[in-house]
Amino acid sequence: MYHRVEPLPPKSGALRTGLTVIPPNFQIQMDWLRERGFETVSLYDMQNALAFGQPLPAKPIVISFDDGYRGVYDFAFPVMRAHGYTGTLFLPTELIDKQEPDYINWQMAEELARAGWKIEPHTKSHVELPGQPHNYILYQALGSMETIRAHVGYQPRYFCYPGGEYDAEVIGLLKEIGYWGAVTTRFAIDHQLKDAYKWGRVRVSGQETLRDFALYLAEPLPTASPTPAP
Ligand SMILES: [Zn+2]
Repeated sequence: MYHRVEPLPPKSGALRTGLTVIPPNFQIQMDWLRERGFETVSLYDMQNALAFGQPLPAKPIVISFDDGYRGVYDFAFPVMRAHGYTGTLFLPTELIDKQEPDYINWQMAEELARAGWKIEPHTKSHVELPGQPHNYILYQALGSMETIRAHVGYQPRYFCYPGGEYDAEVIGLLKEIGYWGAVTTRFAIDHQLKDAYKWGRVRVSGQETLRDFALYLAEPLPTASPTPAP
C-alpha cells in the first residue's frame, strides 16, 4: 500500500512524510522485488486464484496506490512499466473530478488502465463510512464505482476503505451493489477468500530501509541497505 511516490517538499510534517516514498527509494524497492522474482498481479487475479484455482506466478504481489496522487503517474508508473509491473490505483473520484494539480486526472487514469493497471473505487470524497446514513454510504460506494466504470470501460469490483474504516453495514452494502472484495490498512501478506472484504496490506510509509521492506514481505534480508535517507 503506497500513497505518494514523489520528492518530499521541504519542511514536510509527519503526516506528509509518512505518506511519501521518494522516487529513488521506490526505484530500489521495485528493483529488489524484480530481483527476488516477484510478479505483479491484480486483485482480480488473486481472487480468481483463491476461488477457482487460477494459476498465479510463483511470487505474486499486488502493488496498490491510494488516493490518486500525481506522483504515482509521474514517478511510480515509469519505473513499474520498465519492470513489466502493473499496479492497482484506488481513486476518490470527486477529488479526481476537481482536476487539482496534486492529483492525477482522468486522462492519466485511463492511460494507466490501458497499460494494464486496475483503477478501483476509494469513495467519491474520501470520507470514512461507518456510522454514516445508509443512502450516503450507497452514494459514496456506488457513485465512485459508476464514475470509474464510465472512464475505464470495465466494472470495478474492489473497494478501498478511507482510513481503513469499515463495519458490518458497510460490508453488507458493498456486497449488495456488486463489490467482490475490499482492502483495509491492517497488516497482512497472506490473503484468503473468507477475508475478501477485509484484506490486509503492507503499508510502505517511506521511512523504511530496504531491510524493513524485505522484513515486511518475509523475504531474506538484503545484506547491504542502499536505501538513501529521505
Ligand atoms: Zn485514502
